[in-house]
Amino acid sequence: MTRRIEKLLIANRGEIALRILRACHEMGIKTVAVHSTADADAMHVRLADEAVCIGPPAARDSYLNIANIISAAEVTHADAVHPGYGFLSENAQFAEIVESHNLIWVGPKPEHIRVMGDKIEAKRTAETLGLPLVPGSPGPLDSVEEAKRLAADIGYPVLIKAASGGGGRGMKVVPSEDQLESLMGQASSEANAAFGDPTVYMEKYLGDPKHIEFQVFGDGDGNAIHLGERDCSVQRRHQKVIEEAPSPVITPEQRATMGERVRQAMADMGYRGAGTVEFLYENGEFYFIEMNTRLQVEHPVTEMISGMDLVREQIRVAQGDGLSVSQDEVHLTGHAIECRINAEDPVTFAPSPGLVKNYVAPGGMHVRVDSGLYAGYRVPPYYDSMIAKLIVYGRDRDECIMRLKRALREFVVEGMKTTVPLQQRIIDEPAFVDGDYTIKWLERWLEEGGK
Ligand code: ADP
Repeated sequence: MTRRIEKLLIANRGEIALRILRACHEMGIKTVAVHSTADADAMHVRLADEAVCIGPPAARDSYLNIANIISAAEVTHADAVHPGYGFLSENAQFAEIVESHNLIWVGPKPEHIRVMGDKIEAKRTAETLGLPLVPGSPGPLDSVEEAKRLAADIGYPVLIKAASGGGGRGMKVVPSEDQLESLMGQASSEANAAFGDPTVYMEKYLGDPKHIEFQVFGDGDGNAIHLGERDCSVQRRHQKVIEEAPSPVITPEQRATMGERVRQAMADMGYRGAGTVEFLYENGEFYFIEMNTRLQVEHPVTEMISGMDLVREQIRVAQGDGLSVSQDEVHLTGHAIECRINAEDPVTFAPSPGLVKNYVAPGGMHVRVDSGLYAGYRVPPYYDSMIAKLIVYGRDRDECIMRLKRALREFVVEGMKTTVPLQQRIIDEPAFVDGDYTIKWLERWLEEGGK
């Protein structure tokens, strides 16, 4: 069934709200921005066809306020909702409420959001679909005795993870049996405090893996494609700092084989919309860790090498138009790297919000900046510190890195500290240039004083 979207409400803020707005305007779709009182002057509010204030600065009162967002859609006669990433994007109940108001949900089926939101269920589903898992507990850990037995089988160190986890919270590495009981207790209470769910499970702790994720798309009717992988191993505190596509260590054969397994899994499950299947990768093996049922921050690197607009694709699928290409028509060429630019001190990582006194974004061939910044804008202190994404394309990785260097040199943000200088140092490092860095590399390098 196809149904045209004429006016879409963007339930988000910042660069991703702008990103969605741009795709809509290129498709002739009108946009409704929603914003908190702290974001009245934001770029996405200025550029949208209509804007509705949905509450005070705190996200729980505005960007997470379902009643106000639905009311905003009703008063503006929007016919669709795009959640972006973060906030309500992986809230299955929100997706159901949107659909029950006869609005088109630009996202996966609510039941798939729900399954993948519970990491234990997600792993069970992935296993059923034939994806390789990190060895671990088959379900929740019910007792310390059970955990001890399992850990002895798996071998130390093991990792205790929260079933409802996110952002690396509720995760504890257990080096040996004598620490299992206390660390399991800590993980469980941390999980309960952060997610209201004390359920934990166990995984083998991989020593030095890479984080490799596959971009997928489904039409909801059993057709699916993959758009290759991204390497997101440059991380600090489990947060991605730099992402690139393709991964410098994955061979075309591995991409084709693993991509096909993931594509088939999505087709079998009847997945709809954009998704990311995340793996750890060590010694040539992939291990599924989780699936994100939304657009990711790092989606532009995939757009650069595929030539596809992923938000347009999401909207097509949500309208019932199906996928714009088949797997045979997906051609990945060249190399793309994204640097996340945060309003933070580049050494201490202390947040540095405030007034943007001057802003000059880099330009030139194959340089893209996704950002809501402008001179005179005040970065509010209430939200995520990411203020811009710099995405650069090259015919190969070397050209891409050289272009990234020159683009970072051109980047001017005055009035606050940003992580631009940190990004410049990282991409100069031999370990980054070689491409064989792992998820541990950045923190180790920072601990050693960045040398
Ligand atoms: P979250 O949803 O909290 O981000 P993930 O399961 O996606 O949790 O894991 C986040 C990060 O934690 C991974 O990118 C990786 O750096 C690390 N990690 C997760 N599982 C393991 C594991 N079994 N062994 C080693 N590191 C892991």
